[in-house]
Amino acid sequence: MNKISDRIQKLPASATLAMAAKARELKNKGIDIIGLSLGEPDFNTPEFIKKAAIQAVEDNYNSYTPVDGYQDLKESIQRKFLRDNNLSYNLSQIVVSTGAKQSIANVFSALLNPGDEVLLPAPYWVSYSAIANLSEADYKIIPTDITENFKVSPDKLESYITEKSKIIVFNSPNNPCGNIYSENEYRDLGKILKKYPNLFILSDEIYEHINYGIKSFSIASIPELYDRTITVNGVAKAFAMTGWRIGYIGAPEWIAKACNKVQGQITSGANCIAQRATIAALDSPVEKIKYMVDEFRKRRDMIVNLLSDIKGFNINVPEGAFYVFPDISYFFGKKLKNKLINNSTDFAIFLLEEANVATVTGEAFGNPNCIRISYAASVEKIKTAIERIKEALN
Ligand code: GLU
Repeated sequence: MNKISDRIQKLPASATLAMAAKARELKNKGIDIIGLSLGEPDFNTPEFIKKAAIQAVEDNYNSYTPVDGYQDLKESIQRKFLRDNNLSYNLSQIVVSTGAKQSIANVFSALLNPGDEVLLPAPYWVSYSAIANLSEADYKIIPTDITENFKVSPDKLESYITEKSKIIVFNSPNNPCGNIYSENEYRDLGKILKKYPNLFILSDEIYEHINYGIKSFSIASIPELYDRTITVNGVAKAFAMTGWRIGYIGAPEWIAKACNKVQGQITSGANCIAQRATIAALDSPVEKIKYMVDEFRKRRDMIVNLLSDIKGFNINVPEGAFYVFPDISYFFGKKLKNKLINNSTDFAIFLLEEANVATVTGEAFGNPNCIRISYAASVEKIKTAIERIKEALN
């Protein structure tokens, strides 16, 4: 008997988490899998943040938290937005959540009606489409490819906007391809967006600090777009705090209020200890986490070099985040170790089974020609993984 709701039956499992779970399962069976599927810094949370959490336990932070977050955490977020993003938000415009994923889910369920459409410039992070469907809305992919450096042009953007378009999601630096929209590129896209006052913009800036090139720009800082942009961020990636689960938004007050209402019925306020630790993280100068960004840059250079050497891997140089997104369509229609490769899912399965390296199919990110490889792993692991991939392909 299956009584699962239609909505949940239609919901795909998260491809990133599913691949990580599969890799874990194989590892537990004794198979030496190198997991390059999950986007998770392999660093420990910095000491000064851990200390703040321990202090919070000692200070008996144990009660329910305000649904939208502690006032002093919201003040830290307010300072952070002003300092790093040139964005001015009142405290009533800020909502703290259990991870940026929840922030996005709150916004989608606050804004979307059945029949509304979410525009997703691809490649896009796997959960945007799933959460849109969960909110009973549809999504429309705006495809881009490696020759465009995976960026949507203003003309292309405009050709996808219809009456139904309610939200467009930007994610720069991008998961999975690592590109960054420059200020000028955003201003050009902004000229189009200004013409469509009913379209909301969700700007997911979770990889903001994992940035090796141009400084990332917050699209909400374009004055004409401020009133319909939701800026999403969190501490997971920059501060190696994925498991602490703290995300937040800055948004028009009426949207923040609606998110507060949604959250109040589903999870209540985010974890008290993690919120106290987040104050320490956000109030610290960005230089304190530079050692991690420097290390990611080294690994980026290395993995781009190593992969460029493999015939059939067409690769762009990511400017941020910690993923590469090579186009591997060269292998389609070919047999590798007697296995016919028809698409990126076949290729990712081939890598898992024959090279024991876990990656994620590009199909989950709206680009079936690519695979995503996370380089949030040690230099040795990355080197061994690429060696194994090379061997399996020989
Ligand atoms: N955002 C990370 C990733 O893409 C973590 C897993 C997830 O939530 O999707 O790998």
